[in-house]
Amino acid sequence: LSKIAVLTSGGDAPGMNPCIRAVVRTAIYNGLQVAGIRQGYQGLIDNNLYEMNTRSVSNILNLGGTILKTARCIPFRTDEGMETAYQNLKANGIEGLVVIGGDGTFTGALRFSKKYPDIKVIGVPGTIDNDLYGSTYTLGFDTATNTVIEAIDKIRDTADAHDRLFFIEVMGRDSGAIALRAGISCGAEAILLPERDTVIGNLIENLKKGQYNKKSSSIVIVAEGDKSGGAYDLAEAVRQQIKFYDIKVTILGHLQRGGSPSAFDRILGSRLGFAAVNALINGETQKMVGLEANHIKLTDLEEALTQHQFKLEDDLMQMADVLSI
Ligand code: ATP
Repeated sequence: LSKIAVLTSGGDAPGMNPCIRAVVRTAIYNGLQVAGIRQGYQGLIDNNLYEMNTRSVSNILNLGGTILKTARCIPFRTDEGMETAYQNLKANGIEGLVVIGGDGTFTGALRFSKKYPDIKVIGVPGTIDNDLYGSTYTLGFDTATNTVIEAIDKIRDTADAHDRLFFIEVMGRDSGAIALRAGISCGAEAILLPERDTVIGNLIENLKKGQYNKKSSSIVIVAEGDKSGGAYDLAEAVRQQIKFYDIKVTILGHLQRGGSPSAFDRILGSRLGFAAVNALINGETQKMVGLEANHIKLTDLEEALTQHQFKLEDDLMQMADVLSI
């Protein structure tokens, strides 16, 4: 192995930059050349890449987003797109690839490396949703949860001042990971998750109980993927039944993706980037590097993708209900 490349793909996540830095420096430390590919798989197809050196990644630990940019790339799903990507990698002398992204990124990486096994591929779990099998935490999840908490604390101030009930929608189309942890951290009165059914009648009962118990404000956190129809519809349904609160809705939206990575994500990104390059050096391929029980673990991409379903912790869900009385 003499030359590798790194790319970020799919949704951006804070912590990708510390990971890129670790990949570049670990590679160079071990005498490898390293190329940065811009805009995910699109950059592979467009031959949009550049040689990186130790200074290319100076002062990026604290930056959100990704210096390599990311993209959703349709052509990479086709055989022709993959062939072009392969020819570009060969022409640039690249034999190993680190891909940082979510399950779509891994699906593409696995298909590619089955077609072209001479290119070794290692995946790094980078997504704020924390929904990948093979790693207790994914890059960006901790920072995004902290960003959400900071925002909800501010909303709580105004909710409390006016006896308001807020429905706050947070990211997570298929995963309630951010909603659950943010809800526990902010003392939400209810947390609505894609992983369980929302019974509006129960929600209204709980809110009425809260008012009876003299709560001056209420926060309901709604994960994007909650099946009862989103924060606005829920607020409308509850407004019909509850008159004692002024009901408001806030959609936190893309601010959840931004911001400087937390200490946790900087360390996780560094650790996973370091491990990814070492895995390539050891001849590994079609694997994902993850963190389980505070140890680096390699999981077959095939297994990571088929197991996919990541479960929320039952004890956290029960506890959230108990502590919100
Ligand atoms: P996030 O979880 O943040 O959405 P992701 O990696 O799952 O991240 P996707 O947009 O699903 O994001 O996938 C990223 C890219 O991976 C796609 O734009 C596409 O280029 C590639 N990809 C996804 N699925 C496939 C596939 N079946 N074959 C080839 N490439 C794929």
